[in-house]
Amino acid sequence: MRAMVLTRPGEPLRLQELPDREPGPGEVRVRVAACGVCRTDLHLVDGELPDPKLPVIPGHEIVGRVDALGSAVTGFRPGERVGIPWLGSTDGTCPYCLSGQENLCDHPLFTGYTRDGGYATHAIADARYVFAFGEQGGDAECAPLLCAGLIGWRSLNFAGDGRRLGLYGFGAAAHIIAQVANWQGRQVFAFVRPGDEQARAFALRLGAVWAGGSDQAAPEPLDAAIIFAPVGALVPAALKAVRKGGRVVCAGIHMSDIPSFPYRLLWQERHIVSVANLTRQDGVDFFRVAVQAKIATEVSTYPLERANDALDDLRAGRLSGAAVLLP
Ligand SMILES: [Zn+2]
Ligand SMILES: [Zn+2]
Repeated sequence: MRAMVLTRPGEPLRLQELPDREPGPGEVRVRVAACGVCRTDLHLVDGELPDPKLPVIPGHEIVGRVDALGSAVTGFRPGERVGIPWLGSTDGTCPYCLSGQENLCDHPLFTGYTRDGGYATHAIADARYVFAFGEQGGDAECAPLLCAGLIGWRSLNFAGDGRRLGLYGFGAAAHIIAQVANWQGRQVFAFVRPGDEQARAFALRLGAVWAGGSDQAAPEPLDAAIIFAPVGALVPAALKAVRKGGRVVCAGIHMSDIPSFPYRLLWQERHIVSVANLTRQDGVDFFRVAVQAKIATEVSTYPLERANDALDDLRAGRLSGAAVLLP
């Protein structure tokens, strides 16, 4: 198999020819058809996530076809299209797993972080955490649903039922969640990097009722806001934008420090909450919604060998929608 491998954080990924691996008991091997590039991959490559497996193959938005089954795997057949998400496995026994919060498991493994991911021609996954994906939609177009969509969906649920929803940062996740929110009958207010006209136009094209710079005040009080951009200064900005009792959801795995802010921004029962990882139930729910809401993702594809270019384009904000690698 071929893979783009991270040997040391801070260094570019390197293309490597690796021996093919056989799936172990309970595992499936998947021939990768497409793998999305997520901001978390940038944090991994930049050394902002603690204790990665090294060397590691990044990538946790994998769409592919089952090509080998380990022993004791049931429920999948060779050739079937599947998706492999960020949550790679859990212990199933800790208090979080036992209370329906496997996303907070004490002993998890994460795809493309603490186990190898999908910047490769093949990936091996714990079959219990693999989603059957059906045949609807192209491989590249489906890949961003596996994390940008899923984590966005979990964030949207944490934001509550409010009608006026702010989205800070209009990248891969927001462009999916804006469509879901519209489908649910909500109004989307998009906050983009100040001066980023392309992102502003993109948000309006995807149905936002308002789009402006994140340095601008919201045109009306919002019921909730989701922060997708890894920028701590957006937390007080979003608190300012939400009404009494409103919620601010931080959707990323890493964020720059949050500057201090006056207590009155939080006062009146405003909430700040972060969202971590996903549960398998999130996937079951979201993939059904994605079909019902006819989510259409916009992707820029790169050959696998150009993973570093895809990461650079994501870092520089040169993308509309999501970057996807094709092996
Ligand atoms: Zn657990
Ligand atoms: Zn991700």
